[in-house]
Amino acid sequence: MLTAPKKKPNSKSKDKKSAYFDHAAGTYLSNQALAAMMPFFNKDFGNPSSLHSEGKKAEMGLKDSRRMAADLIGALPENIVFTSGGTESDNLAIYGIAKAHEKHGKHIISSPIEHHAVINSLEDLKKQGWEITYVQPDSKGFIKIGDIVKAIRPDTVLISLAYANNEIGTIYPIPEIGKQILQYRKTNNTIYPFFHTDACQAAGYLDLDVEKLHVDLMAISGSKIYGPKGVGMLYVRRGVTIKPQIMGGDQERGARSGTENTPGIAGLVKALELAQKNREKESARLEVLLKYLWEKIHKLIPDIRLNGPEIGPQRLPNNLNISFLDTEGEALLLYLDEYGIMCSTGSACAARTLEPSHVLKALGIPAVEARGAARFSLGMRNTKKDIDYLMKYLPATVKKLREISRMN
Ligand SMILES: *Cc1c(COP(=O)(O)O)cnc(C)c1O
Repeated sequence: MLTAPKKKPNSKSKDKKSAYFDHAAGTYLSNQALAAMMPFFNKDFGNPSSLHSEGKKAEMGLKDSRRMAADLIGALPENIVFTSGGTESDNLAIYGIAKAHEKHGKHIISSPIEHHAVINSLEDLKKQGWEITYVQPDSKGFIKIGDIVKAIRPDTVLISLAYANNEIGTIYPIPEIGKQILQYRKTNNTIYPFFHTDACQAAGYLDLDVEKLHVDLMAISGSKIYGPKGVGMLYVRRGVTIKPQIMGGDQERGARSGTENTPGIAGLVKALELAQKNREKESARLEVLLKYLWEKIHKLIPDIRLNGPEIGPQRLPNNLNISFLDTEGEALLLYLDEYGIMCSTGSACAARTLEPSHVLKALGIPAVEARGAARFSLGMRNTKKDIDYLMKYLPATVKKLREISRMN
């Protein structure tokens, strides 16, 4: 494994010293979200379940957050379950449905390019006797709706597909898929299968109206939308029963016990409000930046490959995943970090060997290409200046890594 260079860039340079391109992994908290959280730390600090006035104040705040969250996704307040993040929301959706409906059947449909919060939950259920069908995507991550419908069996209880992929930005036509699932249920006169979507990456850029999406469950995380980390929510359609996975004082109408994270929830909901309010404008702005970055890379660096769909309506406007042939993504990440440039890699460094990303692998991208993958995910504070700063160092860094790789 390569290590990062020792030499720091010239500290006298007047140029920008850092550029953050890892918004798909984590965003800074917006000032508005922070302001929304503040009162609940030590002013309205009560436990929302307490009956006295301090408790009532906290309960009022929680109630406001819940109503606002519901409004933002076209749902009712009682459809919202606040959780500890995207991972718990996905887990609650999958285990919650599985454990409540296993008498009907033990089959779930998903894709091999889902987030680990979904994949690892499904693989765990597999060990408990469940059957999982992973519908094969094409090389850009798309799945034929027909293939999903064909995979439905009488014992299928759940279909789980991300709204937008976190690694390669592929956007799924959730409204169309949802419609087809509804049609199947109607034709077969059944309430199954339920439809869950992981909207953690989509929440900043796409329409979240659950009626248009025709979803029964939808997961959202605070940390990808300029809200706080460790807080999320799960939408659960009325009439859809889930088995709680955390037992205790029956908070969240029994769906998720534990004292509610009142500051976190207020921050999450404020972040979601801003994300949905600004999503069209911000998507358009980021797509221009993304195209600018892609064109520069395309022009200045040979032997590259865009992973995922073309830039456009079927790709998240902030996601660029590129394989730089004859490089290792992780080395590239570490070299760029020395210049204050932060991105992420398609590969996870596991057990001292470079494991290619499960997503790129599932798309049939050869291991040598997958190893050289880097993801640049743009966000709110990025401007053309950041791209120019990145492009000052990226071509030479890639060239250097290729020279090193040829020497070995
Ligand atoms: C980040 C992310 C998650 C996990 O969310 P946490 O809040 O970190 O638990 C799940 N799914 C997707 C698509 C994500 O991007």
